[in-house]
Amino acid sequence: MNRFDRVKVLLTGAGSGIGRAAAIRLAAEGAQIFALDRGEEGLAETAGLVSGPGRFVPHVTDVTDEQAVVEAVAAAAGELGGIDVLVNVAGIHRTTPIETLTVADLHLLFSVNLVGTALLCREALRHLPDGTGVIVNVASSAATQGTPYMTAYSASKGAVLSFSLSLAAELAGRRIRVVPISPGTVATPLTSGLEFPEGLDLRYFGRIRSLFGSAGPEQIAAVIAFAASADAGYLTGAEILVDGGSGT
Ligand code: NAD
Repeated sequence: MNRFDRVKVLLTGAGSGIGRAAAIRLAAEGAQIFALDRGEEGLAETAGLVSGPGRFVPHVTDVTDEQAVVEAVAAAAGELGGIDVLVNVAGIHRTTPIETLTVADLHLLFSVNLVGTALLCREALRHLPDGTGVIVNVASSAATQGTPYMTAYSASKGAVLSFSLSLAAELAGRRIRVVPISPGTVATPLTSGLEFPEGLDLRYFGRIRSLFGSAGPEQIAAVIAFAASADAGYLTGAEILVDGGSGT
């Protein structure tokens, strides 16, 4: 049984990591996917990895560009004939100690992680059907677990989490579900590219590292697929923490 037969999905961040894995998983279960990413090459690579029975339509868009998002969501609804599910995965990361945190970094992190997510929600809600519409927003375990040298990133993901919880309450009357998913450490280009300046005290990381190691992006994609599916019909306004028990 394909849980996403004829289901129209708008997915961001599909050009890499978790977003790519979500595209592969959802298409394998039959989804019609309109996929946004700012990177054309990544989207093309994902398109080559996705196989049916679903469909994958790539569309280069920067989620921080309001006009581009308005146009991309309208294009998605036109191309797919509506939007049933929105999955916000696009996000960026920065590591820096507080002493060197810049206003530019703060603006950038909030602009992509929070503003991008919020814009996509606002625009997709013009199309999501009452009764069955679903929004899945990828936050991070950093939203609720102290994570050294990631204050700005953590705060931006905390914002995604609280935005999602309030949106779930706001949309409950329309019976549209909103589910924030918070991964722990996932093996993707985002984490392999992490660089810590010399001399930082990294002992704390031992306390928040999972004994299960890093997740594979497909393990997060499986949870995204569950949250977006009718199997999760009574799940809304509650965070799913997928961190391999790292906070325990
Ligand atoms: P990734 O870097 O592999 O993929 C992120 C994708 O988002 C890239 O394809 C990138 O081009 C796209 N993107 C970034 N900014 C964009 C913009 N302005 N407009 C459009 N697309 C944009 O990262 P990932 O590890 O797959 O992370 C995906 C999401 O999961 C992010 O929101 C990240 O914060 C979150 N997350 C990741 C981890 C982890 O350990 N990897 C843990 C918790 C949460």
